[in-house]
Amino acid sequence: MESVMDKIVSLAKRRGFVFPSSEIYGGINACWDYGPLGSKLKMNVKQAWFKAMTQMRDDIEGLDAAILMHPRVWHASGHVENFTDPLVDCRECKARFREDQIPQSQCPLKPSKCPGQHDKCNLTEARHFNLMFKTFMGPVEEDANVIFLRPETAQGIYVNYKNVLESSRHKVPFGIAQIGKAFRNEITPGNFIFRTREFEQMEMQFFVKPGTDEEWFETWRGIRMDWYHQHGIRPEKLRWHKHEKLAHYARAAYDIEYEFPFGWSELEGIHNRTDFDLSRHQEFSGKKLEYFDEETKERYLPYIIETSAGCDRSLLTFLVDAYREDEQEGEVRNYLSLHPKLAPIKVAVFPLVKRDGMPEIAARIVADLRPRMEVFYDEKGAVGRRYRRMDEVGTPFCITVDSETLTNQSVTVRMRDTLEQVRVDMSQLRTWLEERIC
Ligand code: ATP
Repeated sequence: MESVMDKIVSLAKRRGFVFPSSEIYGGINACWDYGPLGSKLKMNVKQAWFKAMTQMRDDIEGLDAAILMHPRVWHASGHVENFTDPLVDCRECKARFREDQIPQSQCPLKPSKCPGQHDKCNLTEARHFNLMFKTFMGPVEEDANVIFLRPETAQGIYVNYKNVLESSRHKVPFGIAQIGKAFRNEITPGNFIFRTREFEQMEMQFFVKPGTDEEWFETWRGIRMDWYHQHGIRPEKLRWHKHEKLAHYARAAYDIEYEFPFGWSELEGIHNRTDFDLSRHQEFSGKKLEYFDEETKERYLPYIIETSAGCDRSLLTFLVDAYREDEQEGEVRNYLSLHPKLAPIKVAVFPLVKRDGMPEIAARIVADLRPRMEVFYDEKGAVGRRYRRMDEVGTPFCITVDSETLTNQSVTVRMRDTLEQVRVDMSQLRTWLEERIC
């Protein structure tokens, strides 16, 4: 039996969502490229997040900071010292993995040479391994020129907090949202795009007055869980995981977890980071980062509530959650029940046959819709097969120009999930679709 993950990986490859990176050279472990439909889906996920954070609120601004930052940033943040994972080796099979992931880790030699159960195996002591990728700035490869690829986007926000505050004239509480690449030299990447060494994060840091942090933390927990519900994730597949053991900077931390085919795993973290980040950057940079409250005449370092989501991990969640199979006319139909806002193609337009002026009418519909939404035109093969190909990539609506169109100017609109078909007057079509997609 093919597992759900195998089916999704194969669909992603076959239909152009996700390809193994550098495939013609045999691929490179845990690196993936987004294809024609995957890049659109990813863009839609990012747009949905950025819109919810910035366009729909007047207390959050966007930012796009550089990946390469001053190396002192990573000393101040604690990453040089603390961003490590405990690495252990199995003396039997030589596999390497994270000490905190021993029970899940697969033994490559199982069952012949190694007991296969690493939790009962002959392991080395854990060594601390820093996850940051290092490189050199400029042509000289010497210690003074070491620079890091950022392992999170958040630090770009902290070091720009004053710039954003002053240029936007906001008052605390306010937030900064950013989407961007992050790099971690993970010991055990895997599960398709769930854990990779290069990935994108969607992070928002909300700056609040100390004392109001607990209330804001709860508010943001609610907003972030709702965002997944509003974008179609089944609520029963999401849950909260409260961190009992907190990172040195955190006062409270919760993860939103999703029930992936490989088990419940983190999708997003929500953290109350106190004034740790700003006080460290103030100390290391020597620049005052305090906020002056003009009404109360108080000076303080704001506390930070962070919402930190993985873009690739969200995309995987949307794919996994949307994957469905049902039986139609004795055949298994697989489809992606993606939310229309996220679907890479919003609408497909088909002439029923390639004659009687139907292709010309369909072309006019495409021309009318294309500036407003992603449209796909197809005139080849049986209409049933054309529907199936669109179902498989999650296109919510298919429009067919048929013989009735020639007499009364209406088209058939077929819904992906319910297979329901309705007739819509061509003059109403654009509005009808926009109401359901935008
Ligand atoms: P984990 O415990 O799974 O390593 P983390 O707690 O270190 O994750 P954070 O530092 O809180 O993760 O990162 C925030 C978000 O960034 C995660 O919830 C996840 O969605 C995403 N993320 C982190 N590491 C990776 C990775 N290696 N690949 C893909 N996404 C990642």
